[in-house]
Amino acid sequence: MSWKLHERDLGMGSNITRRDFLNGVGITVGSSLLRSNPFLLSVFGVPDSVFAPEKDPNYYPPSKTGLRGSHPGSFEVAHSLRDGKQWPEAQGENETFDLVVVGGGMSGLSAAYFFRKSFGSKARILILDNHDDFGGHAKRNEFRAGDRLLIGYGGTQSIEGPAHYSPEAIGLLKDIGIDVQRFYKYFDQNMYKSMNLSRATFFDKETFGADRLVPGAGLHSSPEAILQIPIDEAARKDLARLENDAIEYLASLSAEEKRVKLIKTSYKDFLLQSAKVHLDVIKVFQTAPHGLYGVGIDAVSADNCRGMGYAGFKGMPAPPRERGEREPYIFHFPDGNASIARLLVRALVPGSAPGSTMEDIVTAKMNYAKLDDPASPVRIRLNSTAIRARHVGDLATANEVEVTYVRGGKAYKVRAAQCVLACYNMVIPYLCPEMSDKQKEALAYAVKIPLVYTNVQIRNWKPFQKLGLNNIYCPGGYFSSFSLDFPVSIGDYKFPSSPAESCLLHLVRTPCRPGLDCKDQYRAGRADLLATTFETFERNIRDQLARMLATNDFDPARDIQAITVNRWPHGYAYEYNPLFEPLDRPDSERPCVIGRNSFGRIKIANSDADGHAYTNIAIDQAYRAVSEISAKGNL
Ligand SMILES: Cc1cc2nc3c(=O)[nH]c(=O)nc-3n(C[C@H](O)[C@H](O)[C@H](O)COP(=O)(O)OP(=O)(O)OC[C@H]3O[C@@H](n4cnc5c(N)ncnc54)[C@H](O)[C@@H]3O)c2cc1C
Repeated sequence: MSWKLHERDLGMGSNITRRDFLNGVGITVGSSLLRSNPFLLSVFGVPDSVFAPEKDPNYYPPSKTGLRGSHPGSFEVAHSLRDGKQWPEAQGENETFDLVVVGGGMSGLSAAYFFRKSFGSKARILILDNHDDFGGHAKRNEFRAGDRLLIGYGGTQSIEGPAHYSPEAIGLLKDIGIDVQRFYKYFDQNMYKSMNLSRATFFDKETFGADRLVPGAGLHSSPEAILQIPIDEAARKDLARLENDAIEYLASLSAEEKRVKLIKTSYKDFLLQSAKVHLDVIKVFQTAPHGLYGVGIDAVSADNCRGMGYAGFKGMPAPPRERGEREPYIFHFPDGNASIARLLVRALVPGSAPGSTMEDIVTAKMNYAKLDDPASPVRIRLNSTAIRARHVGDLATANEVEVTYVRGGKAYKVRAAQCVLACYNMVIPYLCPEMSDKQKEALAYAVKIPLVYTNVQIRNWKPFQKLGLNNIYCPGGYFSSFSLDFPVSIGDYKFPSSPAESCLLHLVRTPCRPGLDCKDQYRAGRADLLATTFETFERNIRDQLARMLATNDFDPARDIQAITVNRWPHGYAYEYNPLFEPLDRPDSERPCVIGRNSFGRIKIANSDADGHAYTNIAIDQAYRAVSEISAKGNL
């Protein structure tokens, strides 16, 4: 079979849900679809009186497939604001609240939670979010295999290192019913090991001259694996040297010179200039940091790579970790941290979900019709993009903030005594143009990291069992990693632990442009992501899987049952890559710290506000923002 597989062999015409999607937008435009698709509504100008998609009993975003994450319909209004579009003046009565929150991700939901804690359960709160689902990056994907429900994560994957969460963040998790210790029971840490499954690297023909799956190769390769890697013989020797020899490559430098050199040199340059490896070694490692940094080794410092345990530092080991022992990576709900978002919503909005435990939330069906219920003190309004947040009257004396948002193609206004902007921070200068230039510049400084989390439902996972693999790294591939889902069973949800069962594969792609400054790489990646059709994703998924699993009874046309591509053009919060940032800048001078200053009655949250892409940070920033309100002592 040729390496470039024929369309029909790949199954591009197969009957999976994606057939109704052309770049994520339905081809048939029926009236029910119009009601449930704000993008089409704004395009086709359907009157707002029919725009209440969340009230439809069939409204259930987690079960949608095709293009998810920042789905079509979620970002067009914000982009038109960026491009200078003026919206017709909002009409109708102003609703009033005690707090309006922009952004229904982890930070926005946490802000509502902390606000209620400070000001009582009668506090009236409105949360606006531009997506058709709440949770922001914490996104749930559902699939069906016959009668069986398969649950995947479309974004925020796990609770990472809960022992290091702040008292406020861990306190919030406990309040909504999460006992992290239970994951030791729910996550089967032994399952793949007991089946002798481990990792491999797939070297592709376009990058390495031959398609070859090599078990045991990767960031660290066994001696047998190194012999199999399709690279120059000199590069193989260099790989073995990096792996085994305790060489101090920067021996001539003083301790301080060495520190600076490692921070200000990319791992790629360190390998080429200090370790003097063959160019083929770079190809093997190039995309290794993609999942964490969104860029390759050309834009990640040698110091960071040393900290992550990359090869080449045996003679100059990283200093011991400051934060004590590493916890296992097991704090994972089947839908990732979407379960945290669901638990928060259940706590905030009466009747939004049945049940009362961290176990029953996993299979609970949310009632989206209840999210924006006038009878509830807390309301969540989806499909609603804020375009303006301004003080009513003078900044110093104003008693209210007015927020304008667009829903179903029309602008509306609400007023509240307080406002928390828990949205992407670089949107804020457009919402609040009267902020100081210094603050707006600081808010606009960061560029969020684009990435794609894709779930592929396959008929069974026998090919992986046969190959002895649960994880494949693809340094030259369109997707840079393929993993069998985490073996987690909670409550009524049971992981498909028999290889004969349907299961989910998790794929990661981070579009970027090697060679540029990292922020320019992110910008290029974001543009690439927004221009990529679902069909392109699908073809690459089928092609890569067919080639990796070739000869192991995997037929992409037969075995791929569903695909959900979660694209995040604005993914991780920007984490101040030291390679491109001023050396030893004090925390107080980081743009995110300057940008998050309180602006009258408008406070700023989101993980962007601390420049770290983690759930605990999103919660901590919500806590800080609400504390700034509490500190004023009034509403
Ligand atoms: C693919 C992926 C995987 C991740 N994995 C992990 C992980 O395993 N563990 C971890 O701790 N963290 C992870 N993260 C980091 C994640 O970003 C944080 O954990 C956290 O979920 C961020 O929450 P947030 O509320 O700060 O931001 P978001 O989740 O981005 O929420 C902000 C919300 O505001 C909305 N918004 C923006 N502008 C407007 C507007 N004008 N009007 C209305 N709404 C608006 C956004 O669309 C979004 O819904 C991951 C992130 C991504 C993208």
